[in-house]
Amino acid sequence: MVARWVMGVALGAVVATGAVAQGYKPGIGPSPGYQQPPGYAPPPNSGVVPFPGKPPPGGVPYGGQPGGPGPEQQAGVCTPQERELIENSFREAHRITAESLRQLEQNPELPQFRRFFGTAPHEQVRNTLRLTADWLRERRPASIACNHPNNCPQGRFAYASTQTTAMGFCTLFFNGQDTGFDSRAGVIIHEVTHVAARTRDIVYSPRNAMALAKSNPADAAVNADNYEYFIEAVRDNWNQ
Ligand SMILES: [Zn+2]
Repeated sequence: MVARWVMGVALGAVVATGAVAQGYKPGIGPSPGYQQPPGYAPPPNSGVVPFPGKPPPGGVPYGGQPGGPGPEQQAGVCTPQERELIENSFREAHRITAESLRQLEQNPELPQFRRFFGTAPHEQVRNTLRLTADWLRERRPASIACNHPNNCPQGRFAYASTQTTAMGFCTLFFNGQDTGFDSRAGVIIHEVTHVAARTRDIVYSPRNAMALAKSNPADAAVNADNYEYFIEAVRDNWNQ
């Protein structure tokens, strides 16, 4: 199934995408299996947590000015600082993806491969890594949203539309680290594998990804988190 944002037919309408939720990167805890498009405005009295008052670029106060854009139109706007952090993370994501591919080509016995892909075909994994590295080198999302209240339920790092390549980043991403699992560059890699190589979200978390590599290498070879953690493990020289 191809992941895509689901457009409600009426304001506030929610349509489930199906049994397999794809295209987003949750953190701890469950996340809903659907995404709203950027710019979607919550219906009145919907119980949606309001956007937490971040001033948009140009210093217009949240809430808008008379005649200016209203608060709904500000939702999801990235500050210049957020944009810079995201761009730096995209560059780092390209660097470590290309580096992991280089190391794998040099050493097919790389221990992190066995850890995250088990006995999956090397060629398939290298191909996904190559598509992801190429995308990161040449492209950027069609649009980027930051902390959009409707698209950032608690526990979500980021999300992407495989149809439009639009991406959004949530608080967990901005609070992320430079190294370790679920680093900022790693979260971007997760999303870009969806867009560039049509990976899926079969399981989440390092523990589940490693278990999947043992129990079902074919699934591990198409699961976004397995690529993210493989690349992060190579970067950090992690092999436990
Ligand atoms: Zn995902």
